Amino acid sequence: MDLAFTPDELAFRDEIRTWVKDNLPADISQKVHNAMRLTREDLQRWAKILGKKGWLGWGWPTQFGGPGWTAVQKHLFEEECALAGAPRVVPFGPVMVAPVIMAFGNAEQQQRFLPGIASGEVWWSQGYSEPGSGSDLASLKTRAERVGDKYIVNGQKTWTTLGQYGEWIFCLVRTSTEGKPQTGISFLLIDMKSPGITVRPIKLLDGECEVNEVWFDNVEVPAENLIGEENKGWNYAKHLLAHERTNIADVNRAKRELERLKRIAKAEGVYDDLRFRDEIAKLEVDIVALEMLVLRVLSAEKSGKNSLDIAGLLKIKGSEIQQRYTELMMQAAGPFALPFIFEAMDAGWQGNFPGGVVANAPLAANYFNMRKTTIYGGSNEVQRNIVAQTVLG
Ligand SMILES: Cc1cc2nc3c(=O)[nH]c(=O)nc-3n(C[C@H](O)[C@H](O)[C@H](O)COP(=O)(O)OP(=O)(O)OC[C@H]3O[C@@H](n4cnc5c(N)ncnc54)[C@H](O)[C@@H]3O)c2cc1C
Repeated sequence: MDLAFTPDELAFRDEIRTWVKDNLPADISQKVHNAMRLTREDLQRWAKILGKKGWLGWGWPTQFGGPGWTAVQKHLFEEECALAGAPRVVPFGPVMVAPVIMAFGNAEQQQRFLPGIASGEVWWSQGYSEPGSGSDLASLKTRAERVGDKYIVNGQKTWTTLGQYGEWIFCLVRTSTEGKPQTGISFLLIDMKSPGITVRPIKLLDGECEVNEVWFDNVEVPAENLIGEENKGWNYAKHLLAHERTNIADVNRAKRELERLKRIAKAEGVYDDLRFRDEIAKLEVDIVALEMLVLRVLSAEKSGKNSLDIAGLLKIKGSEIQQRYTELMMQAAGPFALPFIFEAMDAGWQGNFPGGVVANAPLAANYFNMRKTTIYGGSNEVQRNIVAQTVLG
C-alpha cells in the first residue's frame, strides 16, 4: 500500500492551493478561521464561486459536467479548501442527491436538476428522518399516494438541516405498506414552494435554528419527480448514505480546527500546562490516524478495490474527533466560553486579546453544536453495529 502522493498529485495540489488562495473571499475565510456565524449568503457565495469554476460538483464525473477527478484529487481539493478556511459545502445538493440523480434518475431529470446543483443556484434539503423514524428509518410514514400523474404527499419530516433555505427537498416517502417496510419506500424530489408545505424551525441547544420540521399537507408532486422505480427508494437511499458518512468524517476540517485549538490554548494561557498539552497531543495523534485511514481508503480506491464499507468507521472516528476539539476549546477558555450572545457570535473568537465574554462566546455554541455529529448521518451506535456486521463479520 502506497500512501505517498505522486509528483502529478503534488502538482495538482499546488494548482488547487493557488486557485483557492486567489478566489476564496477573505471575509469568508476570516469567519471560518475564527468560528464566526456563516450566513446563507456566505455559504451560497462560495458555492457559486466553485460552481462557476465547475468545482462545486468536485466529485462528479465529466459526463455530468464534473472535473472527473480521481479519489486522491478529490481528497486534495477538500483538504486545500478546508485548510484555507473555506466553508463546508452544504452537501445535500452536490454530494448527496446529485449522485442519486446521476445513478438512478432518467436523462430528463439529469438535465433538469443537475445544472442548478452544479452552479450552486438551487438549495437542496434532505427529507429522510421523521419523528419516530431516525435510526429505524425504514419505518417512515410520510405517505405519497399516486393519483393520476401526481403523488399526493402527507406527513412530517424532521431535523431537516437548513430547510428554512431549501428550495427543493429530496424525500423518502411511503408508497406501499405491503411486505417488508423497506420495499414500500420511494424517492421523490419535491419543490419546497409547493402549496401545503410548512417549515418550522427547531431551536437547538446552541441557540441556532439549524434544523427544521417540514410538514406536508396534501402536497401535489408531479409523478415525473419520482427517481427510478416506485418502491425501490430504499436502494437509492442507501447509495446516498454511503456518500453522507464519508463526507461527515471531515478530517481536513479537523486539521484546521486543531490549529485553532492551539491558538486558543496559547491565547488563554493553558498551552504551557503539560496536562492540557497532553490532551492536544492525543487529539493530534487521533487526527493523524484518521488521516491515515482516509489515505488507506484512497489507496485502496486507486488500486480498484471497493472500500466504502469502512465509511461507517470514518464517520465514528471523525465525529468523535470533532466533538473532542470543541470540548478542549471550551476547557481552554473556561467559564468565559459559556454565554451565547448573538453579537458575540458575530464577533467570533478573536485571538488577539485574551479572555472575556466577547472573545470566547462562540466556543460554547460550537461545543453544543458539535454534539450532533455522533447522532446525524446515522448515530455512532448504529454505525458500530454496521461495522460489526460488515467489517468484522
Ligand atoms: C443536527 C442534526 C441534523 C440533522 N439533519 C438531518 C437532515 O437534514 N435530514 C434528515 O433526514 N435527518 C437529519 N437528521 C436526523 C438524523 O439522521 C437522526 O437524528 C439520526 O438518524 C438518529 O435518529 P433519531 O434522532 O430518531 O434517534 P433514535 O433513532 O431514536 O435513537 C436514539 C438513541 O438510540 C440509539 N439506537 C437506536 N437504534 C439503535 C440500535 N439498533 N442499536 C444501538 N443503539 C441504537 C441511537 O444511537 C441513539 O443514541 C439530523 C439530526 C441532527 C441531530
